[in-house]
Amino acid sequence: MFLRRKFLQTSAAGLASLFFNKKSFAAANTALPGYKSHPIIISTWDFGKVANAEAWKVINAGGNVLDAVEAGVKVPEADPKNHTVGLGGFPDRDGKVTLDACIMDGNLNCGSVAFLENIVHPISVARLVMEKTPHIMLVGEGALQFALANGFKKENLLTPASEKAWKEWLKTAKYEPVINIENQHYKKDGSQQLPGGPFNHDTIGMLAIDASGKMGGACTTSGAAWKMRGRVGDSPIIGAGLYVDGEAGAATSSGLGEEVIRTCGSHAVVELMRQGIKPLTACKKVVERIVKRNAAKAQTLQVGFLALNTKGEYGAFAIQKDFTYSVKSAAEEKVYEAESWFK
Ligand code: ASP
Repeated sequence: MFLRRKFLQTSAAGLASLFFNKKSFAAANTALPGYKSHPIIISTWDFGKVANAEAWKVINAGGNVLDAVEAGVKVPEADPKNHTVGLGGFPDRDGKVTLDACIMDGNLNCGSVAFLENIVHPISVARLVMEKTPHIMLVGEGALQFALANGFKKENLLTPASEKAWKEWLKTAKYEPVINIENQHYKKDGSQQLPGGPFNHDTIGMLAIDASGKMGGACTTSGAAWKMRGRVGDSPIIGAGLYVDGEAGAATSSGLGEEVIRTCGSHAVVELMRQGIKPLTACKKVVERIVKRNAAKAQTLQVGFLALNTKGEYGAFAIQKDFTYSVKSAAEEKVYEAESWFK
């Protein structure tokens, strides 16, 4: 009896200190069953590693999951050397940089902007759409007006390097956005080289669970290089480029957006996880659907999915090889290459 009472007192004190002290909860939660992988941040591509590190600072300090993913994806958005996200993104075929982004939490709160020009951080505008408007998605001129009304500044996003690459592309103006050529447009040190091929398009999609188990995700891109003016890809579309449901899991994508929109790709991955399917298999099943419905041209397509379930288990799968993703938790900080349909 004494022992039992003593045990209960000790556990209650232990639990109270865990729940009332966010920092110690974050530090100690690796020992709690079911929470062993929280907090965790995963994101698409090698450049996700530095973005994860920024998000980790927020989450590790006990911060909010949406603050973390927003801070994380702002890193590639602000990086002029990243030609597929934000500032310095490759323009459309008319030489204009147009950005797409969305953000979502595990309670299905979400916000999105598409075809937004001259704003370095579309993800922050998407967050404000979620928090300050009764809507989910603002596009083009309206999204810009909203951003300016909320204190964002207009900036020229077309850097000299991106303009040079666009002028190079104009010489042939061949538009065939069918596949990423990751291995050609990355140098060995992980930086991107110019222009690498006519189909450069890599989005950052980031998924996270904070110390308390809350899920969130963010996705931001300049979309397919040299796209038609007005083209919007999967990345800002809730359910296509990103989906988060705290009861089932979260998923994001990179690759040819048209195929992801057609299959409501990220939503499809999350619905499979809701049935108890592991993240890797869920991603694989949706990739398989895309491959089978495109039997004649699957060899020329690239789509990759990245997923995280509510336990903090993650997985990724792509049509082609060379789809990488970055993981950050207390236990690891790594870049992995996803399994792929074609080897
Ligand atoms: N999915 C993006 C789009 O189609 C591009 C990418 O991730 O590669 O706009």
